[in-house]
Amino acid sequence: MMIAEILCVGTELLMGQVLNTNAQFLSRRLSALGVSQYHQTVVGDNADRLEEAYRLALSRADVVITSGGLGPTVDDITKRVAAKVAGKELVLFPQAEEMIRQRFRQYHKNMTPNNMSQAMFTPDTTLLLNAHGTAPGAIVPMGEGKVVIHLPGPPMELQPMWLNQAEPWLQARSGKTLVSRYIRIFGMGESEVDQRLADLETGDNPTLSPYCSLGEVQLRATACADTPEAALQLLQPLIDEVKARLGDVIYAVEDNESGSLARCAVEALKHRGWTISACESLTGGLMTSALVDVPGASTVVRGSMITYQSESKTMLAGVPKELIDRCGVVSAEVAQAMAQGVREKLDTDIAISATGIAGPDGGTPETPVGTVFVGIATRSGARVMHLQLTGSRDRIRTLTMKHAMNAVRQEAERN
Ligand code: ATP
Repeated sequence: MMIAEILCVGTELLMGQVLNTNAQFLSRRLSALGVSQYHQTVVGDNADRLEEAYRLALSRADVVITSGGLGPTVDDITKRVAAKVAGKELVLFPQAEEMIRQRFRQYHKNMTPNNMSQAMFTPDTTLLLNAHGTAPGAIVPMGEGKVVIHLPGPPMELQPMWLNQAEPWLQARSGKTLVSRYIRIFGMGESEVDQRLADLETGDNPTLSPYCSLGEVQLRATACADTPEAALQLLQPLIDEVKARLGDVIYAVEDNESGSLARCAVEALKHRGWTISACESLTGGLMTSALVDVPGASTVVRGSMITYQSESKTMLAGVPKELIDRCGVVSAEVAQAMAQGVREKLDTDIAISATGIAGPDGGTPETPVGTVFVGIATRSGARVMHLQLTGSRDRIRTLTMKHAMNAVRQEAERN
């Protein structure tokens, strides 16, 4: 039987400035895995006390899991002290260096030399990728078959790293089988989802953990058992209960994390035997791009128009100039005419359109930034969704695309 111990590093935890939610998250996951824990420690950013905590934890556990202190500053000592306890030197890992450089490029930030400390590990370390921050995590052998697993402090970084990388690694060592299902939700906020499912999220096996991305909530349901079949049997009643409580906002239940609203939209179209076209203004091709990101989209996507200026809405989609003058280019009437126009021109079963104000400029008191109209036209009629979105230009355009994809899915699935 494996014994684990959680060691959270950070003076802010001792001072009560930060609630230790990482310890709660990790403990719940460990008990679901059938891994025992007998002690937990919180220690400040002090090298001597941390060293003492490592030695004690390693004397009584097989796996010591640390949270925090992986950053580039001098008080980020978690790895350095572990290396000292292991009696090894930290060396530069080129793969980690490249990962960190990539993150900085992605965030358009300048890298300072001290950031390279985040790419230093003891030579026999297994790296854990950080999809949401710069500091990679690590699995570090400490001798006598024991390991330290280093995780970053921010829960948004720690949780996916744990779920997607550390947990499968531990599971392989524990001999148990974990089975997960991903329940994907669009059209209900995280707090509402949480409120409806709170009692289900406290279970040990199966477990249910929510996490959110732009406009979406994803639930990961996981069961642990001796065989995959037994794990699935534990999982199914939980999934059925979540479906009963949330209903139509669930757009997919999948066995991996790669699903997207656009993929579900394309699948629904294929299933229905429908073709689609789009007339895009503020999304500038984003809706069509999301559709054609899905392999095999060519059987359903006929084509699209990008009608960014008013004139092109008239020239390409046949939206009457008089309608634009009367109702405004950002209006339900124009969105509907755009969808109907492209649908008729390209003779598709369904068409979507979007017109709106992505900002940061261009808003008025009557039509503020974030006002968006999405049109949906089919052979039997048309409707318009009025969205009032917030946030950056990027966020408004992406959310518009997601709303449109969800509408396509719902329309194609409708009887
Ligand atoms: P960074 O690279 O962001 O500095 P890090 O791995 O060095 O990450 P810390 O600097 O220790 O992590 O912590 C960063 C933040 O993560 C803290 O300010 C706090 O908000 C959060 N955090 C740290 N530890 C915990 C914890 N145990 N539970 C919840 N949140 C935590």
